[in-house]
Amino acid sequence: MSAQRPRKRFGQNFLHDQHVLDLIISAADFQDDDRILEIGPGPGALTSRLLATGLPVLAVEIDRDLGAALQARDEKNLEVKIGDVLRLDWMGLLQNPPYKLIANLPYNISSQVLFKVLDHRHAFRRLILMFQKEVGDRLVAEEGTRNYGILSALIQPWFQIDRVVKVPPGAFHPPPKVDSVVLCLEPLSKPRLSLYDEALYRRLVKGAFAHRRKTLRNSLLGSGWAAELIDQAFSEAGINPGRRGETLKIEEFGMLANLLSTYDMGEE
Ligand code: SAM
Repeated sequence: MSAQRPRKRFGQNFLHDQHVLDLIISAADFQDDDRILEIGPGPGALTSRLLATGLPVLAVEIDRDLGAALQARDEKNLEVKIGDVLRLDWMGLLQNPPYKLIANLPYNISSQVLFKVLDHRHAFRRLILMFQKEVGDRLVAEEGTRNYGILSALIQPWFQIDRVVKVPPGAFHPPPKVDSVVLCLEPLSKPRLSLYDEALYRRLVKGAFAHRRKTLRNSLLGSGWAAELIDQAFSEAGINPGRRGETLKIEEFGMLANLLSTYDMGEE
C-alpha cells in the first residue's frame, strides 16, 4: 500500500525520529521470554523495531488500511488485530501474560488506555508509552502540585513511573501541536496501597478532584458522598476536611478509602 495521509480522527502522528525509537527499545529492556503488545502500530516504524528483537508482537490497530498493510507483511512473529483497543476484551487479548506494552499512543485515548491497564495490571511487566507532555506531567506529579490529580492518584499506587525522554513535535509526521514524553511504567513489586475496595478508592479520588476549587469535604459532598460517612472517615483518619483534594498524599486517600469501605454504606 502506498503511504496514506495520516488520519487526524485516529490521532495519527507517526514517529520518525530514530533516536527516540532507539530510546524506546532500550527502555523496554527486553528479556527472552517477553511478549509485546503494541497499541496503534500505524505504518509500523516502532513495530519493525519491536520485531527485530525476535519476540512475539501482538499489535492492535483501529485503522483498517494500516492494519491490513501490516498483516500483509506476513511476519512470523507479528499478530495484528484490527479494531478499537478500548472495545476489545482485554482478558481475551492478553492470553499469555506477562506482556510489555509499548506504544506511541494516540493522545485522545491515553487516559482510557491507562484505566484499562489498571484493570489488567497483573498482565504487564513493563510499559513504555508516549504521552502528550501534559498527561505525562500529571502521571508523575506529587501531591500539592498543580498537575497532581486523578491520573496521579490512580496510577502511582501501582507503578513506578520514570521519564525516558521528552519528544518535540518535529519527531512526528505530521508534527502535533504539543510536546510529548515517553514514560516507563513498571509495576511496583510492593504497591504503595493495600486497598479493601479498589472501586471505592477510584470513586473517592474522582470525587476529591471533581471540584478542585472546593475543600475536600465539599468536593466529595458535591460528588454524592454522604456527609456522615466522610466526616467519620476524616475524623478517624485525622484528616482535616478543610484541606483541598490535591494536598492529600496517595497514602491518605488509601486510608480514607479503607475506612469508608468498612462502613455500612447502605443503598447506593
Ligand atoms: N505507532 C505508530 C508510530 O509510532 O508512528 C503510530 C502512532 S499514532 C500516534 C497512533 C496510532 O494508534 C495510529 O496508527 C492510530 O490509527 C491508532 N489508533 C488510534 N485510536 C486507536 C484505538 N482506539 N485502537 C487501536 N488503535 C488506535
